[in-house]
Amino acid sequence: MEQSRLKQQALAVLKRFYGYDHFYPLQWQVISHVMQGRDAVVLMPTGGGKSLCYQIPALLSPGCAIVVSPLLALMNDQVDALRANGVPAAAVNSQQTDTQNRSIIENVFAGNIKLLYISPEKLLSELDMWSHEMKISLIAIDEAHCISQWGHDFRPEYTRLSVLKEHFPSVPVMALTATADRLTRDDIARQLGIADARLFLSSFDRPNISLQVRKNISGRAKLKEIANFIARRPGQSGIIYCLSRKNTETMAQRLQALGIHAMAYHAGMSNNERNAVQRAFINDEVPVICATIAFGMGIDKSNVRWVVHSNMPKSMECYYQEIGRAGRDGMPAEALMFYSLGDMVTLSKFARESGQSQTNIDKLRRMQQYAEATVCRRRILLSYFNESYETDCHNCDVCHNPPERIDGTKLSQMAMSAIARTHEQVGTMMVIDILRGSHKAELLMAGYDRLPTYGVGRHITFGEWNAYLLQMLQLGLIDVMYDEANHLHITPYGKDVLFGRATVMFSKYVKQLPAGSQSKKPAVRPVFAGQHTDEVDTALFEKLRNLRLAIARASHIPPYTVFSDKVLAVMAREKPTTQAEFGTLYGVGEAKTARYWRAFTSVIKQQINQNRPR
Ligand code: ADP
Ligand code: ZN
Repeated sequence: MEQSRLKQQALAVLKRFYGYDHFYPLQWQVISHVMQGRDAVVLMPTGGGKSLCYQIPALLSPGCAIVVSPLLALMNDQVDALRANGVPAAAVNSQQTDTQNRSIIENVFAGNIKLLYISPEKLLSELDMWSHEMKISLIAIDEAHCISQWGHDFRPEYTRLSVLKEHFPSVPVMALTATADRLTRDDIARQLGIADARLFLSSFDRPNISLQVRKNISGRAKLKEIANFIARRPGQSGIIYCLSRKNTETMAQRLQALGIHAMAYHAGMSNNERNAVQRAFINDEVPVICATIAFGMGIDKSNVRWVVHSNMPKSMECYYQEIGRAGRDGMPAEALMFYSLGDMVTLSKFARESGQSQTNIDKLRRMQQYAEATVCRRRILLSYFNESYETDCHNCDVCHNPPERIDGTKLSQMAMSAIARTHEQVGTMMVIDILRGSHKAELLMAGYDRLPTYGVGRHITFGEWNAYLLQMLQLGLIDVMYDEANHLHITPYGKDVLFGRATVMFSKYVKQLPAGSQSKKPAVRPVFAGQHTDEVDTALFEKLRNLRLAIARASHIPPYTVFSDKVLAVMAREKPTTQAEFGTLYGVGEAKTARYWRAFTSVIKQQINQNRPR
């Protein structure tokens, strides 16, 4: 089909079923690729809109799309969300009886289902029974990182999914994941037997999540800050990550004692207990969960407004993944991390005792550098995942409270020229020694005293160079090759600076103040549902939210499945009063217009009448 016609049809489907007007970055590219019958690996951050990448092709094609998903709860929530949008979807899984599963499969055969969600083991056991008459439009493998042993969530059943391509050679296969880990990414296409799949890699930036780190606050002061933080965000959902099971329980108890409705969640609880806590959170019955890292994997809840790390996480991968659970709906969300020397001690001990101690210690060090950053934290985070950003984010605590800036171009050129002239065969210490003209034997033996850069940076102390090299790393000018004896490499962005095609700003080196001497005032400001209070009719928003909750309870679906926070905020701003106005709103498709317009517009009209001066 002609591309522009196909795009028109795709946009029509996007509006009709989801109420959206535009595609997110890369969505259309993926959709049109898959519609040509080709395989794809899709890497997008959480909230990037992966689901639509297979749901839209499923709706545009004859037959049924098969979606492989590892987590039962997630599967059911996705099916609920699709049905709420008027899309015929179903799930086959071990929670249903064989008879139920059979009748669903028969429905698929009869052509009544557009998307079938299925667990890998169920799919593999069904496969032989599925004749080739079954019209499969595409196969989507969600959470595809589960196939990799490198990943954090390896599932052996996933490795057998390569048979899918053999079984259905002409059906496009797409693998989707939000994992930012390079080793895992590389594994996916290979393991699935779709070596020719095109890779779609979107930016991993989550600009709507603000980043903040609070240093050297512990014990009661930390608890008080966390309690204040929550109290200033009434009605918002959030997750507090703690280091241990015990910590989750004490944190929840202490918050409860302060009148905050919080519950603990950890791997030591029974399956039933954990499911109950997760359901309560998803259904907006409990706003705050104190959890170990085990929490959050299996949930799609789009209105998690904040994530607090009560302690520093053990790696940037973990941190990124955990903060990513906030703000999936694209509305402003907050990530607040507490970091103290005590965390470093505990985590270093864990790292040393782990199987791959050196790797884990290195990862921990990168996390610590992030915590102690004096440059834009988002740039550090993204450069860790190999994305270079040349501007500051203006949505992190460093950007809000910036240290004094100096032009770092000359200094970084000196350092990078030393790195280049040693053919990228040296680590941080040696680079500094070269720059400062050291007489160390190792340096002289390598002949580095004959380099033109030898001694050009004498005027700067060792400590300062160390700090500036760290900034260069954080800003994405250089990279540490952990698998090559920690040698420094120059990135493409670094080369631009080295050859005078770009400039770079440093934050001026200041000696670290002793712990506790910084201001203790939290830099957080009150927010309402992630938006500034003046932009939204807050009283109306509150009423719409209550209505959403009532509808969700009555129909046994999560509130965010009725409408996301973002849609409610748009509604509270636009105040539609007729079916026609309601139907054109962002995020309101045909099915939801028909089902909900009366209830929501009547609350809006009531509010307008109340506000009218008499
Ligand atoms: P992911 O699976 O990548 O985490 P989702 O597919 O769950 O992301 O999408 C995240 C949120 O963004 C959902 O609420 C979804 O409805 C919304 N969304 C997806 N695509 C669009 C779009 N093109 N326009 C507006 N909202 C979108
Ligand atoms: Zn920033």
